[in-house]
Amino acid sequence: MHTALSVLVVYSAFGAQRADAAVSVNPTMKVGLYYSSTALPGANLLNDVGSGYRLGYYDKNRNFQQLASTRETAISVVKTQNVYYGKVGQWSGYYDTLTSDIAVGCWHLQLPGSYSSYEQAAAAAAAYPGGFAAWIDGTWQARVGAYLNKEAAQSAQAALGLSDAVLAGTSSYGVSVVKTGTSQILFQFDSSSGLCLGIVPGQSGTVKTETIFRGNTYYGGFQYQRVGGGNLTVSNVVPLEDYVQGVIVREMSSSWPSEALKAQAVCARTFAYRSYTASKHISQGFDLCNSTCCQVYYGMDAVTASSSKAVEQTYGEYAWYNGSLIDAVYSSHNGGATESAVNVWGSQVGYLIGKTDPYEASVVNKIPNYNWTVTYTAQELTDLLNSKGYLNSGIVDFKVTKTSPTGNAIEITFTDSSGKTWSKIRDACRTFLGLRSIHYTVTSSSGSGSPSGGSFPVNGTETLDSLSGAYAINGSGNTAQLGSEVYLLDGSGQVSQAQTGGNDAKGSDTVFTITGSGWGHNVGMSQWGAYAMAQQGYTYKDILTFYYTGIEVRKP
Ligand SMILES: [Zn+2]
Repeated sequence: MHTALSVLVVYSAFGAQRADAAVSVNPTMKVGLYYSSTALPGANLLNDVGSGYRLGYYDKNRNFQQLASTRETAISVVKTQNVYYGKVGQWSGYYDTLTSDIAVGCWHLQLPGSYSSYEQAAAAAAAYPGGFAAWIDGTWQARVGAYLNKEAAQSAQAALGLSDAVLAGTSSYGVSVVKTGTSQILFQFDSSSGLCLGIVPGQSGTVKTETIFRGNTYYGGFQYQRVGGGNLTVSNVVPLEDYVQGVIVREMSSSWPSEALKAQAVCARTFAYRSYTASKHISQGFDLCNSTCCQVYYGMDAVTASSSKAVEQTYGEYAWYNGSLIDAVYSSHNGGATESAVNVWGSQVGYLIGKTDPYEASVVNKIPNYNWTVTYTAQELTDLLNSKGYLNSGIVDFKVTKTSPTGNAIEITFTDSSGKTWSKIRDACRTFLGLRSIHYTVTSSSGSGSPSGGSFPVNGTETLDSLSGAYAINGSGNTAQLGSEVYLLDGSGQVSQAQTGGNDAKGSDTVFTITGSGWGHNVGMSQWGAYAMAQQGYTYKDILTFYYTGIEVRKP
């Protein structure tokens, strides 16, 4: 065992990391598919490969505990409020609480007593139309019907002769499983102790099931949680290795060389495991979300034989630095040089060190918009800074004032007519102006205005259209009117003739041209660089160790 000699400074939002020994291979992940504002009143599932569903919950160790099962191939989960859904687009599923085709009411008749098993409750319920078994805080009940209001439930009670039944209404945490396209409840689940309905497709467990949910195909199971008693937060409960398969084809084309895909797989796996331990989304009921906030994931649809192989050939492998998993950040392309994390995010990270990238250049012709140019007029910069609260008297200069050893812009400075300056550093050199990367230079020109259209700022409040009639004052206080030719001395001792609207006194028609390359934050792996390296015969470990200095790639 090695002894930890240094503490890795983590610059991102990720918190504590597990020690090497605690990192596991292929843990079960919960990936949020619909949550917060996208949480659903109802969500359907359709068997694609495999048949039927096991119904239950995931325990603390994420082992599935089965309570019930069904042989239906198309089921929907709805919250225990009145939920309506349309017949149109039965599989893509449109559920809400306003329109109706099919209504699943939240009022039920509950038969007296309780039952010791799912089978007993289901058998008792089956004696009545619309009967179903319900698991309510660990107790089996037999319930009947799905009525929209208390009155409808009461009249059904009279008609069915169920005078000893009690009425059961809506619940904050309850969910019902119905046969899609009907209001027939198959199973109801309600737990006030934090357990959530879990559904695992396929009854035998011997087939690797594929399930269609809202048009996408997923491996693994699903969890339905009513966070705060609201709509359904739907998560895919899936082995990490399967998740990585779904991720890499959203982050990189599956047609890319296999060593590049393998490098991406190690990055995605390492990133996912770190997120899993950081518990960023745990209050929402899952480990990772499916958006760019974490990693883009829409199940298995885009997976190909080639991308699958890349995941299988790196099975369980993570990227490590000093015994901890790295933050495997990457960008599309760096434009010629990566950048140190300290120069972009402000904290030193041992393995995120800027270096010149000799590989990207060989595939520049394949990279869309590799080189880019953005122009701003002085007036546009004036307005932009003012709109962001940097009140200025008119921006007259904008330049890169600090460049990193690898040639990236790491400090930019705006100067207004009064000489006041505003600087932006690190990643803000990219984000402040919405640029594609920090790999750029800035040039300025006087634009297309006529020579007389320029101006000379005076005292920050006035401008002169020309120097004609202006006076100069020297160190002894003597004044003299300027002649037709005026020379200016700058701080470095350079003398140049004054030109109206020229570089020494920029007017509002000055145009700043930003010429750059690359797309992203420039830290860590370049995906196009990985592509180029793979094409040149380098392995995924060569790629990863080039872009992440001093790391190792291995299983825990
Ligand atoms: Zn996220």
